[in-house]
Amino acid sequence: MAKRDYYQVLEVSREVSAEEIKKAYRKLAVKYHPDKNPGDHAAEEKFKELGEAYEALSDPQKRAAYDQYGHAAFDPRQRARSSAGGFHDPFDIFREVFGGAAGGSIFENLFGGGQSDPSQPRRGDDLRYDLEISLEDAALGCEKEISVTKLDACETCHGSGAEAGSKLKTCATCGGRGQVLMSRGIFSIAQTCPNCQGAGRILEKPCKSCHGNGKRERNSRIKLRIPPGVDAGSRLRSAGNGEAGFRGGPAGDLYVVLHLQEHEIFKRDGDDLICEMPVSFVQAALGTELEVPTLEGRANLKIPAGTQPGAVFRVRGKGVKSLSGSGHGDLHVRVQVEVPTRLSPEQKTKLSEFAALCDGREAPLVQGFFDRAKKFFK
Ligand SMILES: [Zn+2]
Ligand SMILES: [Zn+2]
Repeated sequence: MAKRDYYQVLEVSREVSAEEIKKAYRKLAVKYHPDKNPGDHAAEEKFKELGEAYEALSDPQKRAAYDQYGHAAFDPRQRARSSAGGFHDPFDIFREVFGGAAGGSIFENLFGGGQSDPSQPRRGDDLRYDLEISLEDAALGCEKEISVTKLDACETCHGSGAEAGSKLKTCATCGGRGQVLMSRGIFSIAQTCPNCQGAGRILEKPCKSCHGNGKRERNSRIKLRIPPGVDAGSRLRSAGNGEAGFRGGPAGDLYVVLHLQEHEIFKRDGDDLICEMPVSFVQAALGTELEVPTLEGRANLKIPAGTQPGAVFRVRGKGVKSLSGSGHGDLHVRVQVEVPTRLSPEQKTKLSEFAALCDGREAPLVQGFFDRAKKFFK
């Protein structure tokens, strides 16, 4: 099936900013989320397609690769060329989360050698699930239960596809070879047997529940343990929770791709958190001790007299626990100085009195600009 253009999927033009791509994704992801459209297969497909498009276009490197090569940029058969061009392996993130060993195994499962014998047990497909979590849950870790509709092994035949007591028999069309010879003029070409789809054997009596497929669509609730320190784009693997295998092969894995909800107070920057903190101009001028919010309650922060707007103060260790286990990030508090409005007559009088006491030394920036401007007008 032809893949739709990722920009079309997100309903944006090719020039849009990263921010706009994120916005478009959020809007559509909410609309097509499986929890909102239970049983709606078209919405589910759209949601999957959306996740794929967002994954490609939200990463600057992948987006550049996509702009240059189109879908071929992510085609496993073209990986060699892509990685030579500095293309970011989509499973790098996964390896960062779980280390090399597990990363290696999916790599083999997804991109490993061809399926030589279709009658042999085969591993089920891997699945992807997009999950949006709060910044607190990502930082502190949490447990979540998600509901996934997927192909599980048929309960009646336990995945064999055959009715109880019946067996596989050799396919009469191909004599068990899985291939048939077709004449094309003077040539004979081996083709996959249309009767057994190359398996060489067919079911004597297909299971009535699953029509011989061995799988049935079912809704499963899956518990996830999300470790502290995950970030947007982190992938979690839920082993064996992908689609059921074929002919008794192992199930695939479920990959949960995490997205972060916007937070009212904090912005995330790797393991650091950033918080904009408004202070009054009096506090900024005289210095003060602020109570700042952190993920684990309040912390005290002293700001010195003469603090300027935009000044950033660091509260050590109050960021996010590092996923690799090496300590915590910091909280960066950026000061916003609020200029008072709606002054009472008395306040105005006091400020005018204050102004009368000023000689320029208390405001060197203003004084410096004033001096330069004077020269300019001469
Ligand atoms: Zn069955
Ligand atoms: Zn056959």
